[in-house]
Order: sequence, then C-alpha cells, then structure tokens
Amino acid sequence: MFLKRAIRIIFDRAPDETIDLFAVFPGLRRFFERRRLHRFLRTFGDLAFAFIIFVGLFGPQDPGENCIIYLSWGVWWPTIVLTWFFVGRMWCGFCPFPGIGRLAQGLGFCLNLKVPRFLRKNSPYLSVILLCIILWIEESTGIKESPRGTALLILAILSGATLTSLLFPMQAWCRYLCPMGRLIGVGSTLSMLEFRADFEKCKKCRTFACKRGTQERRGCPVFLGAFNVRNNLDCLICGHCLSLCDKDSPMLNLRSPFKELVLNKGRFITCSYIIPFLMGSQLVRFYEDSPFFFVHVGRLNGLDDMLVCSAMLAAGFFYVFVIIRLGALFFGITEDELFGKFSPMVPILVPMAFAGELAYRLDYALRYAPGFFPTIGRQFSVDSLLGLTFSVPPMTFPIMNIFILLSSVAACIYVLYRLAFQEFEGIVPMRRVVLVAALVLITGLSYMCLMIPVA
Ligand code: SF4
Ligand code: SF4
Ligand code: SF4
Repeated sequence: MFLKRAIRIIFDRAPDETIDLFAVFPGLRRFFERRRLHRFLRTFGDLAFAFIIFVGLFGPQDPGENCIIYLSWGVWWPTIVLTWFFVGRMWCGFCPFPGIGRLAQGLGFCLNLKVPRFLRKNSPYLSVILLCIILWIEESTGIKESPRGTALLILAILSGATLTSLLFPMQAWCRYLCPMGRLIGVGSTLSMLEFRADFEKCKKCRTFACKRGTQERRGCPVFLGAFNVRNNLDCLICGHCLSLCDKDSPMLNLRSPFKELVLNKGRFITCSYIIPFLMGSQLVRFYEDSPFFFVHVGRLNGLDDMLVCSAMLAAGFFYVFVIIRLGALFFGITEDELFGKFSPMVPILVPMAFAGELAYRLDYALRYAPGFFPTIGRQFSVDSLLGLTFSVPPMTFPIMNIFILLSSVAACIYVLYRLAFQEFEGIVPMRRVVLVAALVLITGLSYMCLMIPVA
C-alpha cells in the first residue's frame, strides 16, 4: 500500500499528496532526534576533510600520485549532486564546514553581532557571486589537476564558514553566504523529499522553540524554525528542531519532485540568477571536452586562457539568460496573484540545470575511477593496489549523457505542461506553449551537441 502510494506520488500521479515518512517510519524520526549518527558522520566528515586538506597541501603534487583529487572531484562532488534529487539539502546536516565554527561558538568565541541587513537582503546575490568565483576557478585555473589548489579551495570555504561563526551567532554562513549551500538549495527544489511543519499544530504554538531554542538548547542553526520552511532552499534538513518541538509538528514528506517547481514557480530562485550561470558554465564545461573545442581553455593555466575562459563563461551565461528572457516573453505570464513576479523559464529549466551538473560530475567520476586505486598505491607505496584497475567502455559516456539529458528535457516539458495547462489553465494559448517548448528543445540540443561526443 505504502509502495503503491509512494510510486504514485513520485511519478506525479498525485501531485498534491504527500506521505510523512516520520509517521510511517518512526525509526527515521528517532534517528534525526537522537543525533548520535549525525555526530558520528560529522566527525567522520571532519576527519576526511582534515585528511584532504593536509594531504593536498603537503602531499605529492602530481595528480597521478595524490588521491585527494579524485576524492574531492570524483567522489565528494558527484555524491552531493546525486543527493539533491533524493534527499534535498540533507547533506548540509552532515557537512563538516561549520564544524570548527560550532566548536568555537560552544567555547564562547563569538562576537554575536547582529547579521547586517545588507547581508540578509542581498544573500542570494552574494552567494551566487561566490559560486561564480568557484566555477570560474574550477574552469580557468586547472584546479582539478592540482592537489594544493583543491585543498586551498576547501580551506577557503572552511575559513569563510569559521570566520562568519566567530562574528555572527549560529550558522549565518550557511543561511546567507555559502555558495555550495545555495547551489544545493536550488537543486533541492527538484527533490522528492521536503521538510515541513504541520501548520495546524503550529497555530497553537506559543514557544516557537524550533526557531528560538530553549534555555538548554539553541534554536534552528539558520534562523528558520520548522514553521518557517516553505521551500527547500534554506532548510538544512538537519532535524535539530525535532526535539525542540513538543507538538510533533515537523514532518519529512515524500512528495512529487515537481511540486515545488510548479507551486512556487521558481520565484525564490529567479532573483539569484543561479540557473543561467550554472547552465552557461555547464555548456562551457562540456564544450571543453567536445570535438568543437578549439581553444585549450583551463589547460595551460596561462593568463590568456583565463581571459578566454572568462569570456566563454560570460557568453554561456548570456546565452541561457537570453533563452530565459525569451521564454518569459513567449509564455506571456510573469506575475502570479499569490507570489507576485516570477520567471516561468526558471522552474522549467531547473531539471536540465540539475541534469547538466549530474552528467558532468558523473562523467568525471566514471572517467577517472579506474585510476583511483593505482593512485593510492603509488601515493602510499601499496604495491597490491597498483594493478587494481578496470576499464569503462567508451560508449558508457554518451549513453549515460543521452539518458540523463533526454530525461531532463522530458521533465522540463512536463513542468511547462503543468504550468501552462494546470496552473494557468486557459490563459496561455497553445502557440505560446509550443514556442516555449521549442526553446527548451533548443537548449537541450545545445547540451546534446556539446556533451554527446564525450567519449
Ligand atoms: S550551507 Fe554550505 S557550509 Fe553550510 S552545511 Fe551546507 S554546504 Fe555546508
Ligand atoms: S514546529 Fe513546533 S515549536 Fe515550531 S512553531 Fe510549530 S509547534 Fe511550535
Ligand atoms: S528548520 Fe529544523 S531541520 Fe530545518 S535547518 Fe532549521 S533546525 Fe534544521
């Protein structure tokens, strides 16, 4: 019965239905409440990051002799991208970055300044700028082949999270500045899980302990509280508020992956410009590996390459930005009576943005997987690992990319269908829907031309 309902919900056969997994699986609720495994996983993550930073900075600098390159770019990143769809922002509940800051705050090292209005108001822009800088570094400096560069990048994010914790209470970095958190949040709008409160129970609440905390325990680390969670963008799904709520209000819902895209219409994503930049950068990243690639961007690490790469990233952003603007023009509706202004192409394109990132990261993970154990063998002089390798058939890459891309194009068209024929039923003429669908296909075709020849 549960399985049948779950399949109906996941495949959007019952778009308004949800299943509270805490109610169906009480053990899951206990897992989030008790937090023992959280602490264990966080400690494991802290140790893994300490290892990556130390070995990256002081270990061999030949990428063929240092395993942290593959651990960072081939294991960590693809795993995070994969989790977006299945568990939303749950990675943030285990993320090691805020660890040192939390420890410092626990020891009383925090100025407890009020988070400035400027930071609160402009946080989507600031975090997207930081994300742009990271993607630019990734593309133009050859950092993926540099153990020290990779370690420094992780150290920079760790320093940002720690410094912010010394200035402001809780995890202000995670709420307002973290570029990864912003990316994971946007990807999680497509997630089949959501963390929400039961508003009927919250109506009677007088303590709002999920946000404010109690005398013994601090409140929500990102100043939200379960009753404030309306989308998947900001809640870390850390479960911290579960034990603070005496009304059993928080729920972990299984939902249709399209629910948030259709209901919120990408309103909270639009302002951040994250989709055009992410997709534009993906087109550039795929272009680098395609037969159309004629400039060796990011390979020679010279200034010229950096400039060319910057120009290409700007061109990629502009290309997707124009598609988004054209889509809004064709769709004809850019205002919702509940939400106000929105950009229809943003929710429509989210599945392709997610798929592009997934294809790119999985491609890297698979391509370099055969060399992982021999690299460890060379690094730590373990001869038995030198021969522990395998080969990935070249056809795997185009087949995988085609599958991911076509699924995402189908998902984009489905979101368009839901918006045009259900949310704005009878308002959007058919010819306008066809024009927007054509734009989706053109975008998909752009991806196809650049990603399929990867072999
Ligand atoms: S927002 Fe960033 S630093 Fe915070 S938990 Fe998520 S990924 Fe880690
Ligand atoms: S989630 Fe619990 S603590 Fe928070 S407002 Fe609702 S009832 Fe109150
Ligand atoms: S609302 Fe609850 S689950 Fe979400 S970040 Fe805050 S404490 Fe964690």
